[in-house]
Amino acid sequence: MKEKQELLMIPGPIEFSPAVLNAMSRPTNSHVSPEFVACFGRCLERLGDLFLAPKYQSFILAGSGTLAMDVALSNLLEPDDGVLIVHSGYFSDRMRDIAELYGARVDVVSAETGSVPGPEDVQKALEKKDYKIVCITHVDTSTSVLADIKGISAVARKADALVVVDGVAAAGGAECRTEEWGIDIYLTASQKAVGVPPGLALLTVSPRALKVAAERTNPVPNYYASFTYWLPIMEAYQARKPAYFGTPAVNLVYALEVSLKEILEDEGLEERFIRHEKQGQAFRAGLRALGMQPLPAGEELCAPTLTAVYYPEGVSAALNAALAEEGVLVAGGLLPAIKGDYFRIGHMGYSGLLDLMGVLGGLERALIKCGYDAFSPGAALQACQKEYLALRGDV
Ligand SMILES: *Cc1c(COP(=O)(O)O)cnc(C)c1O
Repeated sequence: MKEKQELLMIPGPIEFSPAVLNAMSRPTNSHVSPEFVACFGRCLERLGDLFLAPKYQSFILAGSGTLAMDVALSNLLEPDDGVLIVHSGYFSDRMRDIAELYGARVDVVSAETGSVPGPEDVQKALEKKDYKIVCITHVDTSTSVLADIKGISAVARKADALVVVDGVAAAGGAECRTEEWGIDIYLTASQKAVGVPPGLALLTVSPRALKVAAERTNPVPNYYASFTYWLPIMEAYQARKPAYFGTPAVNLVYALEVSLKEILEDEGLEERFIRHEKQGQAFRAGLRALGMQPLPAGEELCAPTLTAVYYPEGVSAALNAALAEEGVLVAGGLLPAIKGDYFRIGHMGYSGLLDLMGVLGGLERALIKCGYDAFSPGAALQACQKEYLALRGDV
């Protein structure tokens, strides 16, 4: 068992609410029982609320976020289709690898580390060539850079390209208005800001994208990921009818319903977007008070759901171990070129200001243990507190 006073502050899996964890331990019933079919149907509908895409089709599949990426591209792509990858880090490379595997002609538009191409950069690329799909990572997990998916979707739509957004480190924390912004597929996984243990791939798909998939010339070159098999299943569950293609992750779906209730009813989606914004901003103020610099090249590029931050002068990855001794678990660097220069803290879903104040306190103690003491103890907590109170309008 995990020690009670340990905080899992990596960019997923995250800390989960007791009610969500409790739902996991209920007796598993048949995937075609009326009770489960109704629960699955409600989850599909509520995902439409989570993604702000009421007219789209949601999919819930047993698998991880990578499966959701695979589902999106394998169903839309045919050999020699053009794909433009808007590159912001590690998972953009994964999207490119998947597109290449399905025989697409892939181009990449990239930016300096700590940044991401904007709508103008994408517009320029779209003027030079025709692309069937533009792929964007909403929040890049390796850099904590937030992309302007609204602006990029608008230019992609104008060029008649389908827009696929990897929202794995964003959905349920960072603002996304999928339908209004014209995104065709927005995808995520359960273990990040959606707040359910690992094992569910979640997607929402526009009618336009479903039509493209339905009118393909070649069959989908992926058996498990194919809409051909899964679309009728999702439609059946939504009509509260039992259906089978592959056994759903029954207990995870029960847990998903609990988490969606917490997000949409208990907290409220708009309030949740604002909470993530504020807690991220306050947390970064705390880091800066310690002389630590976030990796994103500007405040407007900082994700609300996680922070990648450089080690201060003279401190190395030994800090992560010292932090673990303080009960705070963080993730190391992920970009090969600067892997040893920075680390990452997740602050999404169930994790809130309470946890982040704990992280900053632990970070101060760990830094002192590592020989870095260019701050007065409590400085990070004070800066975080001040920023948060100011954001809330209390001072
Ligand atoms: C975590 C993550 C993935 C991969 O998800 P898995 O569940 O590990 O397969 C993909 N994209 C982004 C942006 C992520 O944060």
